Amino acid sequence: MKFLPDEIEAYSEAHTEGESEILQRLNRETYAKVLNPRMLSGHLQGRFLSMISRMIKPDRILEIGTYTGYSALCLCEGLNQNGRLTTIDINEELETMTRNFFNMSLFAENIDYRIGNALDIIPLLQDNFDIAFIDADKINYISYFNLCLEKVRTGGFIIADNVLWSGKVVQPELKKADKDTQLLMEFNRIVHEDSRVSNILLPIRDGLMILQKL
Ligand code: SAH
Ligand code: CA
Repeated sequence: MKFLPDEIEAYSEAHTEGESEILQRLNRETYAKVLNPRMLSGHLQGRFLSMISRMIKPDRILEIGTYTGYSALCLCEGLNQNGRLTTIDINEELETMTRNFFNMSLFAENIDYRIGNALDIIPLLQDNFDIAFIDADKINYISYFNLCLEKVRTGGFIIADNVLWSGKVVQPELKKADKDTQLLMEFNRIVHEDSRVSNILLPIRDGLMILQKL
């Protein structure tokens, strides 16, 4: 299910700041060389993450699900000068390409890129994060929410991607078949009912849930 007519999406992109040269290259190379390139955030969502980060001006960002580093580089655009983004991915096959792009970027010194299972790594992190971006395996979204809630400061934000899952969350005939859909519905319900956070579900791209820790 597409949420926006193609013309509206194209018009919105046409009236949104362009991607930097390095993000264009990363976008192209990911599509040319990597499996499942549609997972990359892309122009519009990337600019959204950048703008949100520039509004918050974070010192510490946590990202769960680096992939080739596109969303990480967008989120870094709002970091304070000595800020740090910690990003975690379990897929070691992407490490060389992703690290090369991080090193070429303006944020080489600000990025702490870890390879491993986020469920194991997050509990070891000592930082008090201003923003956490959840974008890894959907099966673990509820665990990531609970882990992030511990690690994000009061007033900080948790952003979860793909919470509309191509619209499957409102297609009841698919609910039984698909574990990811069921778990995302469960995630959306749980965070919506949790009085420790305020929440907004934005139908941007594949659905972004933005939570503020109260
Ligand atoms: N944030 C990226 C896209 C992430 S795609 C962007 O917007 O450009 C999801 C990523 O989550 C994949 O690279 C996958 O390897 C990673 N992932 C899946 N399970 C994980 C886990 N348990 N721990 C850490 N990363 C995981
Ligand atoms: Ca995503």
